[in-house]
Amino acid sequence: MNVSHEIIQVLKDSGYKLTRQRRVIIDTLAKNSKPVTAQEIFLQVRKDLPSISQDTLYRNLEVLAFIRVANRIRVRGGDRFELAEHHHHHFVCLKCGDVKCLKGCPIGPQQLSEANKNNLEVLYHNLELSGYCEKCRHRREG
Ligand SMILES: [Zn+2]
Ligand SMILES: [Zn+2]
Ligand SMILES: [Zn+2]
Repeated sequence: MNVSHEIIQVLKDSGYKLTRQRRVIIDTLAKNSKPVTAQEIFLQVRKDLPSISQDTLYRNLEVLAFIRVANRIRVRGGDRFELAEHHHHHFVCLKCGDVKCLKGCPIGPQQLSEANKNNLEVLYHNLELSGYCEKCRHRREG
């Protein structure tokens, strides 16, 4: 289990300890190649932490999302979580709730000029694309 120094530092800076529970949760998030629901994480985490409750897992996920160690993608029927390693954005299907990670980021100095004009220091931003995934699109047209 390897939790990166960056993550440990973010936890420390935010006043949180790297508990065994958090270590397992972070490690589980890292093992998934796409955003997963809290329920899916629960089933995976339970292999290492048989006594963890859904409540405890959920509280920890909220902490990790709050300090931006994890991304929380709000989806009807079950938010998805992933490790926030490389900055990127998401596409969410309005019909089936499927989430796709999109490479890259279109936000540059031009989009931030209004914030700069107002003397704001921007640290984060959210951008979400939504519509219909390939499957739902075909179903709609067919
Ligand atoms: Zn879909
Ligand atoms: Zn993603
Ligand atoms: Zn971005």
